[in-house]
Amino acid sequence: MGNSENENLSVVLYKRREEKPQCDIVLENRPVREPAGDEVVLKMNSVGICGSDVHYWLNGRIGDFIVKEPMVIGHEAAGTVVRCGKDVKHLKPGDRVAIEPGYPLCSDEFSKSGRYNLSPVYFCATPPDHGNLQRFYTHKGSFCHKLPDNVSFEEGALIEPLSVGIHACRRAQIGLGHRVLICGAGPIGLVSLLSAKAMGAASIVVTDLSSNRLDKAKELGANFTYQIKLDEKPQDVAKKIEEILGGMPDRTIECTGAESAVQTGIYATKSGGCLLLVGMGPQNVTVPLVNAAVREVDIKGVFRYCNTWPTAISMLASGQINVKPLVTHRFPLEKSQEAFEYTRDGKGIKVMLKCDPEDQGA
Ligand SMILES: [Zn+2]
Repeated sequence: MGNSENENLSVVLYKRREEKPQCDIVLENRPVREPAGDEVVLKMNSVGICGSDVHYWLNGRIGDFIVKEPMVIGHEAAGTVVRCGKDVKHLKPGDRVAIEPGYPLCSDEFSKSGRYNLSPVYFCATPPDHGNLQRFYTHKGSFCHKLPDNVSFEEGALIEPLSVGIHACRRAQIGLGHRVLICGAGPIGLVSLLSAKAMGAASIVVTDLSSNRLDKAKELGANFTYQIKLDEKPQDVAKKIEEILGGMPDRTIECTGAESAVQTGIYATKSGGCLLLVGMGPQNVTVPLVNAAVREVDIKGVFRYCNTWPTAISMLASGQINVKPLVTHRFPLEKSQEAFEYTRDGKGIKVMLKCDPEDQGA
């Protein structure tokens, strides 16, 4: 059970009801896709559940990406190579790898310049592309990154969310001695915290509405936390942040998407600094744009990430970044429905699904 490619239990979203946006989570056996020359077949080990996975389940879509055909879910993953296509030279059966879920489909100008996240991509569990929450999964070999012995499968799976933090902090050009404000202490706020710290930020304050989440931020190394009250004015929060840090933050990483947090981000950020938008909220947001413009506060966005896996693997292997405390719950693959409900209900931080019946631990 679970070790033969004949049984490939997979977690699939089905859009069954026209009148309801919610998809069904179905566990079914699916054939293992034969690898092309440049692909590998992986025996999956650990797959983290992401907010976006839950969003697809509950809403059947994110923006213009709509679940029409049954789609295997999951994109934060690590596993072991079991078979290689004939052109794959850098991997062999038995290698443990972290899967980078998105790869460019052509070599356009973005791909050529290294910003392949801006090219048309295959991306796991973004319709119509299948994800990898299953026993076996076939992926592009060059986007499977070999893990050193001292980096676990779960750490490997966490490289996907960590990549969002690394890319955001790179785009924000966080550096030595910076004061940093991070809005939101969910998984993305927390990996941004870890990245900012590793990139040399001197003092970091994390804000959130929930004190439980802020406790986790403290545990992961936040110098300060500040619990926002729902009716608090952005200018007032900005003042508080300045007091807490002993100066205005050089960089702000906004991970909530909430309009009030974006406004706070502008008011709070030091002149000449940078506000980085990671959280996705409504299409149109009212912001004090002139305040940012006349103080030369740069406002930047991110789309996923690029070139982060090798960096993340080095940082994890050397112990510079510790992502292990992010995992708060584990479920066997068979209990995916329960795991999704857990994540939906906001219990814990990161829920891991364990795809190998013989390796269910951390
Ligand atoms: Zn994710």
